[in-house]
Amino acid sequence: MTEAFREIYWNVGETVGSLTVYGSALIVLAVMTWGVLRDVNRWRKGRPDMRIDNLRKRAVEFVVQVFGQKKTLKDRRPGIMHAIVFFGFIALFIGTDIIAVEEDFTVPLMGENAGKILVGEFYKNYELIMDFMGLLFIAGLIWMAYRRYTRYPDRLHNRRTDLWALAVLGYIGFSGYFIEGLRLANQTIGGVPVFTQDWAPRAFVGYGLAILFRNIGLGDGSPVGLGLHLFFWFSHTLASFAFIASIPFSKLQHIIYTPLNTFFRDLEPKGALTPIPNLEAEIEKDEPRLGVATLADFTWKQRLDFDACMQCGRCQSKCPAYASGSQLSPKFLITKMANLQRGEPVLLHDGSLGRAHTVLSTDQYNEAPKPIAERTPVYATIEGDRETLPLVEHGIYTENEIWSCTTCRACMEECPAMIEHVDLIVDVRRNLTMIQSEVPSNVKRVLEGIERAGNPWRLPARERTAWTDGLDVPTMAEKESAEVLYWVGCAPAYDERSKRVARAMVQLLTRAGVDFAILGEEESCTGDPARRMGEELLFQAQAQTNIETMHQYRFKKIVTTCAHCFNTIKNEYPQFGGRAGIDYQVVHHTDLLAQLVREGKLTPKRPINQKVVYHDPCYIGRYNDIYDSPRAVLQAIPGVQLVEAPDWNRERAMCCGGGGGNVWMEGWGKRGVNAIRLEQLMQEKPQTLALACPFCMVMFEDAAKNAGVDEQLARKDMAELLLESLDGES
Ligand code: SF4
Ligand code: SF4
Repeated sequence: MTEAFREIYWNVGETVGSLTVYGSALIVLAVMTWGVLRDVNRWRKGRPDMRIDNLRKRAVEFVVQVFGQKKTLKDRRPGIMHAIVFFGFIALFIGTDIIAVEEDFTVPLMGENAGKILVGEFYKNYELIMDFMGLLFIAGLIWMAYRRYTRYPDRLHNRRTDLWALAVLGYIGFSGYFIEGLRLANQTIGGVPVFTQDWAPRAFVGYGLAILFRNIGLGDGSPVGLGLHLFFWFSHTLASFAFIASIPFSKLQHIIYTPLNTFFRDLEPKGALTPIPNLEAEIEKDEPRLGVATLADFTWKQRLDFDACMQCGRCQSKCPAYASGSQLSPKFLITKMANLQRGEPVLLHDGSLGRAHTVLSTDQYNEAPKPIAERTPVYATIEGDRETLPLVEHGIYTENEIWSCTTCRACMEECPAMIEHVDLIVDVRRNLTMIQSEVPSNVKRVLEGIERAGNPWRLPARERTAWTDGLDVPTMAEKESAEVLYWVGCAPAYDERSKRVARAMVQLLTRAGVDFAILGEEESCTGDPARRMGEELLFQAQAQTNIETMHQYRFKKIVTTCAHCFNTIKNEYPQFGGRAGIDYQVVHHTDLLAQLVREGKLTPKRPINQKVVYHDPCYIGRYNDIYDSPRAVLQAIPGVQLVEAPDWNRERAMCCGGGGGNVWMEGWGKRGVNAIRLEQLMQEKPQTLALACPFCMVMFEDAAKNAGVDEQLARKDMAELLLESLDGES
């Protein structure tokens, strides 16, 4: 037996092998660098955005997401599929690098004997691990191809670049084994066939192939076997370099750009939209640039987002607007811009193609999806260059697409590339609202209501406290200081159904002995709807007024029964002088109620013998990670059998359809989002739907009546349920 070792360039020859590898590497490096620089230059055309703060946190997140595949694995089956390919690829990459290091560094520097790395026990283990990881890699690729080309999941659409990625990686994987098998079947060391060495079977896949090759006459130095080895060696090498060269020009770009995007991800609180810098100065300009009207208006980070998208469609699969049949797909929202900035055909909703200068008419959206062969794209010639092409005016983004977003963040929660869809949509809305005044009529009415009356319903401020009739509810103006400021919000103050929630809440606070007060007529809309509808100026005015009002008084905690008010005061007001987390805490009522129950200040006693399903509101769930408190309160109520909407709960809960101003809009799809969500919630046949946000209450009141389950399914806020369990009153 001879010592195990790898003869690099066996059968190829040192000179030919080196020239092929290093000649190709030089060309490939040049092509790839050119491609990457071309993309970087496109991103540099974007507006500035500060993303290099907090480098340590960025680095940690990078490692967790990229090498831990954290978000990728959240979607279990596709996640495992991707992880198999990813780790297989990494192993093969490291294995190839070890060969290069031995050939070019250790052997030339330390000599033939001392410099060998792939020798002895290390080489035997290397062969075993490489063969195993190679198998995983190929299995993952086969799984991907099977899923993409036989299952046709709705969230994927097939392009040539997808086929290229699978084909080139598959060829690299398979040809690697053929090279190994033919080498083992034909190579001799000192006249002894390698195949007969006791260490040869360590490369178990190659060894198996070697047995096959020998049995069919391709081993033991056969000229055909040696010729085939050369063929596979050269084609494998060239395919590997073609793969590297194609990275910036194909779907494979995500290998570089997705990790880069992860590094530059937004580290601000999830619930905080980015303010427009120097808003007032910008408005004073003759031609203010507010929000996004054209490709040139995006920031460099948004332009990187476009290239980082791997088109996996996870965002689309969880998007309520897409599920409702509206024109919005968060995936296409991104890919359209990716194609536009590259000057490639813009792929629109039905899979038809239009170019940046020949964009499809929006009528296509009204057509039912057709088989690819039957699609007849309608082209319109557009003047101007793609950087300054007005996106909405030319139908690249449509009104339906932009306004049907509920800002629920389900897309961002799913996206493994950390793409920021909600900010993009709000940026487009900002331009439509503040510059073009192109807003749906309901949006206009809501904005006018907030501006003139301080609430979206345009009701007078003096009616803001009508809900307190018959209750002893102190105001801050009377007390000046209190332990807790109860921020009521417009819906609980004005909406008849939600008034009952506010009443339940103050009764609970009173029963628990909490020292609290409200702002009463001094309270005004937080501005959340205005901000999500793109009216940043109005939002900032509301924020400043409310912050000034609040800061006249002393309190330690703000509690809200509205998920949107909670998110805005907690995460967005600090951008304008709010002191949440510094001078006071902002808590959602579900957190406070859970705490009061835990501390024994509220003790639910009266059984509610019902199946109860809880709907996670987006703005406390996905935006603020509050999932356990509401469930803890429900579990503390005797008799409650808590059930979940299968697959669609906690961070995967579908929106009620009311966010982003949609509570006031008519609906943009073929079905209401609230109807779809109600079906999910009804799966376990609950008798009560537990809620924690007044917008959800409005949406589900409608949905239950429309679905004919008004009697069958009670809709109650968490505060109402807890109060009912204390004494049976509400
Ligand atoms: S925020 Fe929600 S509605 Fe808007 S695109 Fe994302 S998933 Fe769809
Ligand atoms: S935006 Fe994210 S989730 Fe959506 S297709 Fe692209 S990478 Fe996938």
